[in-house]
Amino acid sequence: MSEEKKIPYKIYLEESEMPKEWYNVRADMKNKPAPLLNPGTLKPMTFEELRGVFCDELAKQELDDTTPYIEIPQEIRDFYKMYRPSPLVRAYCLEKALDTPAKIYYKFEGNNTSGSHKLNSAIAQAYYAKKQGLKGVTTETGAGQWGTALSMACAYLGLDCEVYMVKCSYEQKPFRREVMRTYGANVTPSPSDKTQVGRRIREEFPGTSGSLGCAISEAVEAAASKDGYRYVLGSVLSQVLLHQSVIGLEAKAALDKYNIKPDMIIGCAGGGSNLGGLISPFAGEMLRGEADYRIIAVEPASCPSLTRGRYAYDFCDTGMVCPLAKMYTLGSSFIPSANHAGGLRYHGMSSVVSQLYEDKMIEAVSVEQTAVFAAAEQFARVEGILPAPESSHAIRVAIDEAMKCKETGEEKTIVFGLTGTGYFDMVAYEKYNNGEMSDYVPTDAELEKGFAGLPKV
Ligand SMILES: *Cc1c(COP(=O)(O)O)cnc(C)c1O
Repeated sequence: MSEEKKIPYKIYLEESEMPKEWYNVRADMKNKPAPLLNPGTLKPMTFEELRGVFCDELAKQELDDTTPYIEIPQEIRDFYKMYRPSPLVRAYCLEKALDTPAKIYYKFEGNNTSGSHKLNSAIAQAYYAKKQGLKGVTTETGAGQWGTALSMACAYLGLDCEVYMVKCSYEQKPFRREVMRTYGANVTPSPSDKTQVGRRIREEFPGTSGSLGCAISEAVEAAASKDGYRYVLGSVLSQVLLHQSVIGLEAKAALDKYNIKPDMIIGCAGGGSNLGGLISPFAGEMLRGEADYRIIAVEPASCPSLTRGRYAYDFCDTGMVCPLAKMYTLGSSFIPSANHAGGLRYHGMSSVVSQLYEDKMIEAVSVEQTAVFAAAEQFARVEGILPAPESSHAIRVAIDEAMKCKETGEEKTIVFGLTGTGYFDMVAYEKYNNGEMSDYVPTDAELEKGFAGLPKV
C-alpha cells in the first residue's frame, strides 16, 4: 500500500484535539488592519464607543490586535461539540473524476442545521451577549444563513433574536425564514417601517427589494434604540474572523496528524470570514516566516471587491450609521446584480483580509456564476454533498487548479473551504439546470458610481 492510501477519506479530530483557543492572526501581522473610525469624528473607535454597539467582550476582541491566542469559553466549546470537529475530507472521488495528480482536501462546514460555518461565530456572539446579561440581539441576514445560525445560538442560550432579512430573500426564501422562526427568531423584511433608516430608504427608493447594507442599518438602529439589546454581525468584523479561526485550527491539526503540507488554500470570500478563519493559522506561519502557501480568495465576478475594488475607508452599511472600515470595497451604494450566491454579495471585505491582500500574502480571483454552478454539479455528482453556491466558488477554483496540475503533472496539495450546503438554493440550481442562468459582470462605469460615493477620509 502506498503512503497515499493511508490517508482516510475523512480526517476527524478527537474531542481532546479540538482547539481550546481561537487564533488572532492580527497579532502576527506587521501591518495591522486599519482601525474602525467613528463616522462623526473620523477618529478610531474607542472601546467606550464600540461597547454601545457590541457587547463588552466582543468590543474588546474587535480592538485586540496583539493577543495571539484567546481562550474559547468552555460553554462555547461544549456547543461546538454538537457539530464539530468538522471533517477534513480527502476528495478522492473528485480527484479520480478529474484524473488529476493533485491531492484535494476540503474542510466541510455544512454539517449543522444552519448549513454553514456561520454558527461558529453566532454561538460566540450570543454567548458573550448572554453573559453580559443582555436581553437580546439584532442582526441582518441576506440569503438567510447568518440569521439561521444566530437564531439557533439564541434559542440554545435563551436570548431574544431580531432578524432584518433583505426583502427579496424574505420573499424568495420562505423556508429559510421559517427555519429562523422555528428557532424562535422574529424576522422582519428590510427595508421595513420599524426603523427611521428603513422608512427613509423606502421613501428614497420606493419598491426597493432591499440590500444587505440597508438591513445592517436597520438592525443597528433597532439595537441602539432598545435597552438590553446589542447588534451582532455575521462576517467582515475582526472578531468574526477570530471565531472562525476554529476552521483553520482544526484543518491544520488534521493535516498535521498526517504530515500533510498544503501548497494552496482556497476559500470563497464574501465578507471574508470563512476565508479569514480557514487561512488564519497558515497565514500566521507565513507572517512568522515559518512556511509558505498560496492562498486564494475567490469572489463572484458580479461583486468583485478584491479584484476590482478600491482599498479605502468606507461605510459598512447603506444608511451610514456604522463605523467606517478600511477595506477593499465597491462603495456602500454598490448594489450587485441578482447573483445567486447571496452570501457573497457584500460590497466590502474584512479589514484583515484586505490588509493581507494589500500586502500580497493572498491572491484573489473572480469567477462567473454559470462556471460556479458547473463546478457545483460536478462536485455534487462525485462527492455527494450538495454545495452552497457560495462554497462552489472555491470548488470552481480548486478544480481549475487541479486541472492545471494535470497539465503540468505536478502533485500539488490543495485545501479548500466547503462552507455549506445548498438545499435552500434550489431555485438557483433550477435556473442553472434550465439553462436560464446568466452571468453579469459590472462595467467599469458602473463601478465608478460606487466609488464616487466613498467617504473622503
Ligand atoms: C455567508 C456565507 C459565505 C460568505 O461569507 P464569508 O464571511 O465571506 O465567509 C460563504 N459560504 C456560505 C455557505 C455562507 O453562508
